[in-house]
Amino acid sequence: MSESSLRILVTGGAGFLGSHLIDRLLDAGHEVTCLDNYFTGRKANVAHHLSNPRFELMRHDIIDPFKVEVDQIYNLACPASPVHYQHNPIKTVKTSVMGAINCLGLAKRVRARVFQASTSEVYGDPDVHPQPESYRGNVNPIGIRACYDEGKRVAETLFFDYHRENGVDIRVVRIFNTYGPRMLPNDGRVVSNFIVQALRGEDITVYGDGSQTRSFCYVSDLIEGFLRLMNQDKIVGPVNIGNPGEFTILQLAEKVIQMTGSSSRIIHQPLPADDPLQRKPDISLAQKELGWSPEIDLEEGLRRTIAYFQT
Ligand code: NAD
Ligand code: UDP
Repeated sequence: MSESSLRILVTGGAGFLGSHLIDRLLDAGHEVTCLDNYFTGRKANVAHHLSNPRFELMRHDIIDPFKVEVDQIYNLACPASPVHYQHNPIKTVKTSVMGAINCLGLAKRVRARVFQASTSEVYGDPDVHPQPESYRGNVNPIGIRACYDEGKRVAETLFFDYHRENGVDIRVVRIFNTYGPRMLPNDGRVVSNFIVQALRGEDITVYGDGSQTRSFCYVSDLIEGFLRLMNQDKIVGPVNIGNPGEFTILQLAEKVIQMTGSSSRIIHQPLPADDPLQRKPDISLAQKELGWSPEIDLEEGLRRTIAYFQT
């Protein structure tokens, strides 16, 4: 693929990850079209690009077909927070499945390379730890997380079937919990919840006993992984991208309280159904094939994210 200026479509581009990706793509001199229905994204996340002639904003729902002449497509459109994807679960399935079909159909027609933002949720509540890409997962197909997990699994299936049957040029990344500036204060995910609660002096809501683990990746590291996967020709994926540093949710709560100097107390609330007990990426494939490793540890990432929420 040429290193020169490309025409790139980013679906879900007004969201948390999409807007950071667009920053990097425009910085590199590409033309970017952002497609979003603003369900969990905000125009404000990309407003600083509105006067850039290489940037275009399209309000559209990805479940309806669309046409645009591009060289690359990044498919990120899908609510990512459990609170939001469970709000209208049938719509979440449609967004993943119809969205994948529409992106793949377009990629096939215009011969674009197409990238799927998949997720560590395809591993469900994993009984293999850490999770390598070869692990096939432990997902409850009828649980409250299934609309997201199974939607993303079908999307991966579609990507590989279009690749095998139609020669569509795909890249698939499995993203592990990522955090940073531009998460919504009411996003519902754990890092933003804890920081906002700590800064407001409200109770920190730990679900269950807090012994469940997650591995938190700072957004700039993740986007670097996206770009490396998209702009190489050796592998199509799926590739895990995430930070293998593993923390219990209780440790995260204590760290946020300490770093914000908050007087908030930790309280416990019921653990939601099917909440995975442990999660940590095996990133050896990304290290070997993409030369990628995360550079920002939890302490530094939290410092930057707390500074963002303080303003
Ligand atoms: P986000 O909710 O901030 O962004 C999703 C964006 O997609 C929003 O702008 C939203 O308005 C848009 N969108 C949702 N449904 C749409 C539809 N039907 N049509 C058009 N646009 C629609 O979440 P994010 O964290 O930026 O996640 C981006 C992608 O990465 C998602 O596909 C998500 O599943 C995936 N992912 C994220 C994480 C993470 O930790 N952030 C982890 C795993 C996977
Ligand atoms: N969590 C929590 N308090 C909150 C929000 C989340 O204890 O206010 C827990 C949640 O139960 C899960 C972990 O933090 O065990 C990560 O949750 P998040 O929604 O961020 O992501 P996911 O579960 O999809 O990894």
